[in-house]
Amino acid sequence: MPTHLQIIALDRIAYEDDVDIVVLPGEEGQLGVLPRHARIVTLLEPGEVLTRKSGEETSLAISGGFAQIGPDSVTILSDAAEYADDIDMERAGEARRRAQERLSNPSATPDLEMARAESALLRSMARIRVAERIAARRRRQPPGGQQPRQE
Ligand code: ATP
Repeated sequence: MPTHLQIIALDRIAYEDDVDIVVLPGEEGQLGVLPRHARIVTLLEPGEVLTRKSGEETSLAISGGFAQIGPDSVTILSDAAEYADDIDMERAGEARRRAQERLSNPSATPDLEMARAESALLRSMARIRVAERIAARRRRQPPGGQQPRQE
C-alpha cells in the first residue's frame, strides 16, 4: 500500500504521486514516512523532500510549512516547492548573498527585516543544498546506471 503524497504550494500542486517512502525536513531532523504511519501534523523546515517510488528517487526543495501525515497519505503545505532540477542556483545564490548582507549589518536593518532576512537565508540555503545534493547523487549514479567515463 503506497503513500499518496501531495505537495501544495501557494499557487499550485507542486507534486502528487503514490510513493513508497517520503523523507521530510522535520524540525528535529529528517523524518522518514512509510505507509501505515500514525496520524500527526508536524512543522517542516526549509529543506529537502525526498521521495522513492519503485527505486526511483525524486528530490524537491520546500520553503517550510506543515505536513499532515496519515496511514496512507502525506499532505505538505509549503509556500514554495521546486523540483531539484528547476532550482535556479544563480537566483538562490543571489538571495543568499542579499540575506547575508542584511544580517551582517543589524544596526542598519529593522527587526522585521532581520527576521525576513533570516527566513530568506534559510530558504536560499535549502535550495542550494538540494540542488548540490542532487548534482552529487547524479555524479555517483548517472541516469541509466552508467559509471562516469574515465578518460
Ligand atoms: P527570491 O528573493 O529569489 O525571490 P525567495 O526565497 O524570496 O527568493 P520565495 O518567496 O520562496 O522566493 O518563492 C517565490 C517563488 O519563486 C516560488 O514560486 C518559488 O518556487 C520560486 N523560487 C524562488 N527561488 C527560486 C530558485 N532559486 N529557483 C527556482 N524557483 C525559485
